[in-house]
Formats: sequence, structure tokens, C-alpha cells
Amino acid sequence: MKTFDKSSKLDNVLYDVRGPVVDEAARMEADGLSILKLNIGNPAPFGFNAPEEVILDMRQSLWECQGYSDSKGLFSARKAIMQYCQLKKIPGVTMDDIYTGNGVSELINLSMQALLNDGDEILIPAPDYPLWTATATLAGGKVVHYICDEESDWNPDIADIRSKITDKTKAIVIINPNNPTGALYSKEILEEIVKVAEEFGLIIFSDEIYDRLVMDGLKHISIASIAPKNVFCVTFSGLSKSHMIAGFRVGWMVLSGNKKAAAGYIEGIKMLSNMRLCSNVPAQSIIQTALGGYQSVEEYLQPGGRIYEQREVIYKLLNDIPGVSAKKPKAAFYIFPKLDVEKFNIYDDEKFALDLLREKRILIVHGGGFNWGQPDHFRVVYLPRIADLEKATKKLGEFLDGYHQK
Ligand code: PLP
Repeated sequence: MKTFDKSSKLDNVLYDVRGPVVDEAARMEADGLSILKLNIGNPAPFGFNAPEEVILDMRQSLWECQGYSDSKGLFSARKAIMQYCQLKKIPGVTMDDIYTGNGVSELINLSMQALLNDGDEILIPAPDYPLWTATATLAGGKVVHYICDEESDWNPDIADIRSKITDKTKAIVIINPNNPTGALYSKEILEEIVKVAEEFGLIIFSDEIYDRLVMDGLKHISIASIAPKNVFCVTFSGLSKSHMIAGFRVGWMVLSGNKKAAAGYIEGIKMLSNMRLCSNVPAQSIIQTALGGYQSVEEYLQPGGRIYEQREVIYKLLNDIPGVSAKKPKAAFYIFPKLDVEKFNIYDDEKFALDLLREKRILIVHGGGFNWGQPDHFRVVYLPRIADLEKATKKLGEFLDGYHQK
């Protein structure tokens, strides 16, 4: 019988955040067990709602959104994104430099496909949001991971970045604010990265999907706003997280800086953008409303707001567990705690996640799912309510008490 295997293009592609541990959780659920899910950054199922105005606007627009739009996106959407770039001080962005996408995910894939030839190197953080590594690999690129240093608040290790640049390196990716660490990069760190990009002629890809989910009165800075004219930057953002509408699939990508040097690459981006016709038009129709005026979701991030208070709780309760330590996240809704691997004899972090799932019915993602090289971390999504976070950390403490990986 003729059989069919997956394409060999996928041989080295890893996307474990939705991998074997999640499959096991699905099997357990099918058997009628209930699982406490701390594994996916999807706000809506945890009772977070989009601002009402956004929903009303989409409903109102549906009649006019039945056809394809321009492949880059609706005029009104791109105009609003252009103005948002002005607020973020990203210089020289015209309507032509903006592409809307079915979430940032589509555009990450598109931007990698349009750039990388087989063997081209690209610097991606470890830990990372694993779509970056997966799509760069799928595009034929050679991913070189640079370290983000827990001891320095999960900031990128600039010396490590420098040491990994070769004449094949085309670009550097930063994720700021960061998934999975919750880090927010200072102007000084961003300046260091810009300096490296300028010195070695690298493109900067900046994933800023959490740029409006910042706490403690801190301010997000777009790296493109401080990059000199001769550096080409691609900045990504969207509404999945900031407006709690991950299911609508709405994101965008903005080109800035040295567009002349990137003219050939931009041709490739345009071609792939045309080939997918356009992104979801009803979702584009709400961008203007979402980016303007007062947004009720901002309240979640203030003291008394759900995300802020849940962060306070998870940070304290995780650090109270013997053998667990975590840096305090400043943004997004993730925390990336460290395990004392000697104490627990952990040599396989996926096994740790599976053991925890089977014994306590708690679903987390192991650090390896984020291309973290050691078996000593895991990610917690702290979107569930405080009572659930308390339950989960209590069970985790009980599980770890006496855990010794076999
Ligand atoms: N980038 C990062 C850092 C993310 O965490 C996510 C989703 O979790 C995405 C991109 C994808 O977002 P979207 O829903 O816009 O595709």
C-alpha cells in the first residue's frame, strides 16, 4: 500500500508547546479527568473579555467585510497602525510599510520564508517563543540561539550574541516583552542590541505582541524607535493579547529603517503577502477602534486588576516552594521558574511535566518547549483566577515534596 509521510522539511521543526504533554492532557480529559491548565496564553477562556466597543464594532462592520481587502490590509486598519507607530516613535513608517496578518503567527512565518536561504543563520533567544525557531528552521535557516540570562533579569546576554555572529548571520530576533520570561528590556539593553545589529549589518525582528501588557508603571520601548537609519527593522504586534481576542486572529508587521538595503527582501514579503490574498477582514475592521482611545483591558494591569494581582500571587507562591525560584515578571502573563535539578534529580524536563500532569492533573510547559537547553525550567501562564493559582501551586509543592526523577 502506498503510504504518506510528512515532508522532510519538517524533520527538524519542533513545536512542543502544543506537543506530547498537551496530547496526554487531551487523552486524560477524554477519560473524564479535569486538568488545571497553566499552559497556554489564551485569555478568553479564563474570563477575560475584549473591550465591548471592539465587539460591537466588528458586529457593525460585518456587512462591509465580506470581500477580500488589499493584501496588506484595510486602509483604516493600516492608518491606525501607522499612527500607533508614531506614538511608539518608530520613524518613517508609511502605509506601504504595514502588513496585517492572521495573527502575528502568520507574519512571523511569512517573514522567515521571504528571507532565509538554506544555511542562512539567524539569532533567536533561548528561551524563545518557539514559533520563531520553528518557522526559521522550516524556511531552511540555521537557528543559532543566544542566551537570555536569568541572573540579569532574563536580559539578552550581549557577549553571547556577539560571540555567535558569523558571516552567515542575517538577522537577530528579540521578543520584548518576553514570552516565556515576562522580561521587559530597558533602553540600555536595546541600545546594545542596536549597536550589534549596526556593526554586523543585521536585520532586527522585534516581536512586541505584549507591548501593552506592561506593569509597575514601566514603559515599553520599541527597538525600532532607537535604531539608526541604516538598520532595517521589522516590528510585530497585534490584538490577541492586549485586547484578549486571540481567536479573532489579528496582527501586523511594520517595516522601518533601511528599506533601501532591504528592497529585495521587501519584494519577497510583498509576493508572499499577495499570495495569501489578505488577512481576516472583519478582524482588521476593529484595529482602528482597538488602537484608539481608552481601552478597558488596561485596568487588568494596575494594582487591583486581575493580571497584576495574579502575578503577585503566583510569584510569591512559586518562590515559597522549596527547590523553586522565579524572577518577577514585569510584563505579559508568564513566569518561568527554575527548578533545583540536583534536589529533584531532574534530567528530563518533559518527563517532569508529564509526571506532574499524571499525578496532579496540572498542565505546564517544560523549558525545552521554549528551546531552553537545560532541564531546569518550566513556564506557568498565570491567567487563571487566584483560587486556581493557589490550588495549582499547592499541588505543585506537594508533588515536588519527595520528587526524585527516575
Ligand atoms: N509572539 C509571541 C511572543 C507570542 O507569545 C504569541 C502567542 O502566544 C504570538 C507571537 C502569536 O500571536 P498571534 O495570536 O498574534 O498569532
